[in-house]
Amino acid sequence: MNIILFGPPGAGKGTQAKKLVDFYGIPQISTGDILRANVREGTELGLAAKAYMDKGELVPDEVLIGIIKNRLNEADCEKGFILDGYPRTVPQADALAVILEEIEKPIDIVLNFEVPDEELVERISGRLMCKCGASYHKTFNPPKEEGICDACGAEVYQRADDTSDAVLNRLDVYKKQTQPLIEYYEAKGILVTLDGTKDIDVVFEDVKGILAKFA
Ligand code: ADP
Ligand code: AMP
Repeated sequence: MNIILFGPPGAGKGTQAKKLVDFYGIPQISTGDILRANVREGTELGLAAKAYMDKGELVPDEVLIGIIKNRLNEADCEKGFILDGYPRTVPQADALAVILEEIEKPIDIVLNFEVPDEELVERISGRLMCKCGASYHKTFNPPKEEGICDACGAEVYQRADDTSDAVLNRLDVYKKQTQPLIEYYEAKGILVTLDGTKDIDVVFEDVKGILAKFA
């Protein structure tokens, strides 16, 4: 099963991706997590990406296309994958189509999570992250033990780009550069839109219901 999780920042893509990984045993490919790992490790890629990420801007397409091409060619993607945070521009989607044609793994479905802006801001400003990629919320989805990741036991933290003006800029960037992909995938007949405002477990039930025919 080859899936794209689509939606604005804070829509719940990462949260649902983690549940899908456990349920279907296919990997989550979060370009945000890959970039953050590079920033943490101080790689050349991380150093180049950090300035864009801190401002809430998109990292240039050619960087992302390179990352995704390498990642999709890894062995664990053989049985399927969950793309989270990619593609975010039309050139990224076009490049993805070429890569997937080469490896003969077409996208089955694009799940588009809809959440109003006010709620996105509330979610992002209360988000707590773990370096393993797990995502929590101070109020809506707190870790069982305060400050500690349920999944791996590391300390959770607030993302640098979840605090400042970067949040509003990210929503703006989403509308201008990423939202056009809704029409792009609608035209291909593979986009399904979901109400992302329901409780996390209810959204997951909806997701599983939609994916049942591909499993
Ligand atoms: P994205 O990956 O789309 O940016 P996340 O999965 O990181 O979004 O979720 C953003 C924030 O919203 C996190 O703090 C998460 O715990 C919280 N969240 C996710 N889904 C829901 C939901 N259905 N209801 C309430 N809060 C949610
Ligand atoms: P995310 O974790 O998906 O919210 O991404 C965090 C940040 O990483 C974004 O605000 C961008 O700066 C960068 N990023 C992640 N994925 C992409 C992408 N597909 N294209 C460009 N930039 C990206």
